[in-house]
Amino acid sequence: MTSQALSPRPDSQPAPAETRVTPMMAQYIEIKAANPDSLLFYRMGDFYELFFEDAEIASRALGIVLTKRGKHQGQDIPMCGVPVERADDYLQRLIGLGHRVAVCEQTEDPAEAKKRGAKSVVRRDVVRLVTPGTITEDRLLEPGRANLFLALSRRRASDTAWCYGLAAVDISTGHFVVSETDGPGLPAEIARFEPREILVPDVVYDDPELASFWRETRIAITPLSRDGLDPASAERRLRDYFGVSTLDAFGSFSGAEIAAAGAALFYIEKTQLDSRPVLNPPARGSDGAALAIDAATRANLELTRTLAGERSGSLLATIDCTVTPGGARFLAERLAGPLTDPAMIRRRQDAVAHLVENATLRDRLRGILKRSPDLARALSRLGLGRGGPRDLACVRDGLFAARDLGLELAITPGLPQELAEAGARLQSLETAVADELAGALADELPLMKRDGGFIRAGFLADLDELRELQQDSRRFIAALQTRYATETGCKTLRVKHNHMIGYFVEVPQNVGEDLLKEPWKATFVHRQTMAGAMRFSTVELGDLESKIASAADRALRIELGVFEDMAQKLVGLSAAIASAAEATAVVDVTAALADLATRLDWVRPTVDAGLAFTVKGGRHPVVEAALKKDGTPFIANDSDLSGENAGCILLITGPNMGGKSTYLRQNALIVVLAQMGSFVPARQAHMGVVDRLFSRVGAADDLARGRSTFMVEMVETAAILNQATSRSLVILDEIGRGTATFDGLSIAWAAIEHLHETNRCRALFATHFHELTALADRMKRIANATLKVTEWHGEVVFLHEVVPGAADRSYGLQVARLAGLPPAVVERAKVILGELEKSDRERPKRAVVDDLPLFAVPARAEPPQPKADPLRETLDAIDPDQMTPREALDALYRLKARL
Ligand code: ATP
Repeated sequence: MTSQALSPRPDSQPAPAETRVTPMMAQYIEIKAANPDSLLFYRMGDFYELFFEDAEIASRALGIVLTKRGKHQGQDIPMCGVPVERADDYLQRLIGLGHRVAVCEQTEDPAEAKKRGAKSVVRRDVVRLVTPGTITEDRLLEPGRANLFLALSRRRASDTAWCYGLAAVDISTGHFVVSETDGPGLPAEIARFEPREILVPDVVYDDPELASFWRETRIAITPLSRDGLDPASAERRLRDYFGVSTLDAFGSFSGAEIAAAGAALFYIEKTQLDSRPVLNPPARGSDGAALAIDAATRANLELTRTLAGERSGSLLATIDCTVTPGGARFLAERLAGPLTDPAMIRRRQDAVAHLVENATLRDRLRGILKRSPDLARALSRLGLGRGGPRDLACVRDGLFAARDLGLELAITPGLPQELAEAGARLQSLETAVADELAGALADELPLMKRDGGFIRAGFLADLDELRELQQDSRRFIAALQTRYATETGCKTLRVKHNHMIGYFVEVPQNVGEDLLKEPWKATFVHRQTMAGAMRFSTVELGDLESKIASAADRALRIELGVFEDMAQKLVGLSAAIASAAEATAVVDVTAALADLATRLDWVRPTVDAGLAFTVKGGRHPVVEAALKKDGTPFIANDSDLSGENAGCILLITGPNMGGKSTYLRQNALIVVLAQMGSFVPARQAHMGVVDRLFSRVGAADDLARGRSTFMVEMVETAAILNQATSRSLVILDEIGRGTATFDGLSIAWAAIEHLHETNRCRALFATHFHELTALADRMKRIANATLKVTEWHGEVVFLHEVVPGAADRSYGLQVARLAGLPPAVVERAKVILGELEKSDRERPKRAVVDDLPLFAVPARAEPPQPKADPLRETLDAIDPDQMTPREALDALYRLKARL
């Protein structure tokens, strides 16, 4: 999906300003011209207004009323608006639909503009571009999901090949990682990051080899012209941003990575304008040691989203037992990029194992973690000047939780390396600023800093004094009211307040008439006459009013000053806070995986550099969880694909609904879980680390992208056969089902031979082509397995048990009947099947078909015959006219006995 940036809308551009254009419209047109790719939210008072085609697009997208305002070149100007306080909701919907929004604010007080002349327009400027990959508002973000944008760069790797730099940035947390990949690996690397938006240099976007990828991806694409990517300016940008003279301290980066990182910063400047998000220095994501999983495999295995795009029902949702938003994001990152280095995997496993074995420590850590809010996102909002008092409180609580976690880990002996390092990072955290925040912040906090009242009483003497003054003044007003009432003898005299005339005295009309005269007229100045009442101001009230207003004003200024000081202090400590947030996430993920393993009885897999693949009692975590809800047990199954120099292929035949797909996927998921450092749903597991995981599961057509079911199947199969190595694991479900039987069978046959001879990888291959099972006799690294079924009273019973051997048939008709196909169709299918099975396999199918009375005697859908009903039969046999009362009574008893 391409973003609006790619679809210039020439007709959306208002024509050049006419001489008769109002000054405000002239300003609008100028700002809009500078932001042609975005919907312009133009601030007018309490609303953001949209004009011209922007208004038409937004009114359609948001379902809001389209009105008009004045004329432009003789035409009505379409207009619609959204209230500022609800702008987030509308932004969310527009961003979700792939739009970009330029937020244009008033940058001066309207009173200032008036000073320049009655007709002068308030100054306005775009303060921010909101795009899918750069949002920071809490309400626009999913707590447990990173919101990444990805910047790409391309360099020549050789005369014939390119290499690509990727920089992934989450402005909402400061996360900043870079990586590099070759051309063929680009789609998988992009899929690993799961970005919301990709910045693609024009040259890369226009590359014909990548054209279909850009066309097909559902991620928003923003084209980027060259100037964001010039390597020298990229490096300078990075140095300037982080205030360092060299990037060496952050690690060593390739030219492509630096160029991509520079492009990312360029885009941040472009979208955030004057604000500078707090970013962690760039780090290399997993140092290229990630299990490569292409986009189709990720989607098929439903790692982080289901095929329908939902988080619920995905592997991530099933295993996510984290208790902090930062932990949930980190878990998703680990799941998206499992490792390939056995030592690094073991390091993570050691940590999980420690917390599996030490339940008390795990519970204590999780107890502390539950108090830890979203530190990273709060800090980011403070850094961007979009934070409020609750963000300060969030950082305070996050820092306290981090300190307590550190203390808990410090007193625990014998920690494995991963936890010990996280502990050390937490222990080095300076939490004085959190104590300061605790002293400064009130218990109840407003959402917006401009509402004031968030600094605790007793924190600042000046502030307390001003608040006292406000309180005193209110007491003075009460006293004044009593005094005026006594002096005038009017018991119903009241001192009131409104925005028009401030504080005033209100009396009934008859008393008011008196106040207009001597001696009162010197004290009470008439302001308004209402129906039955009159209002007066007094000098004393005026004085008090200005005291109260200025005290409130000064108090708010002091509070805002404290807020800015605190926010700056926190931003200054951002590196330490980010490190604490990361360490907190490590502890959360480790404890969560330990908790999961304990509750679900998962086991630590052995992961090494060999080519083993043995799983005993393996289960599919998501299907098992779903079945558990209905109280149905999951049948565990073994797998063995181990080989010496090359992997083995297991050919699985079996009935429809037998559990083939489940079995295939569970083995792939066990690899992903094992290599991300988790325990796995099995009784025992041993695997040589997998370098690439491929799956082609199920049939889905993609008509929107111009691909038929069979085409999708073949594209995915081609990718596998071209790329799988002897270290890869391949899961193939039903190749060749989307075409004529013999074509499909031949393709499946040849694909298996290729996997066996050329790719030499470990593979699971499920098929309904029973003919393929003969391959096991011809090739030594192919074995057959099937899913057991049994028949009971004519009904097929799926045992979901994988056993050696081949299936005798597919039980398709039984499944079709279970699915509710009309009985006549099932019966007819049985007849056809019988004929087909009788026929000689060598005989052309056409001849068999010709022999069938297929079209000659179309099966008439006879109305279903009612089954024999003994009750009815007995009733039919009764002739009441021929019965005595005694016989009738006996018949009634007989009928009752039959019920
Ligand atoms: P088809 O050939 O029709 O695609 P299949 O053999 O691939 O079918 P699956 O889709 O894997 O069958 O499984 C069908 C259903 O059987 C699953 O949705 C699940 O409810 C159940 N099932 C599969 N495996 C197991 C198991 N090991 N234990 C319990 N239930 C299982």
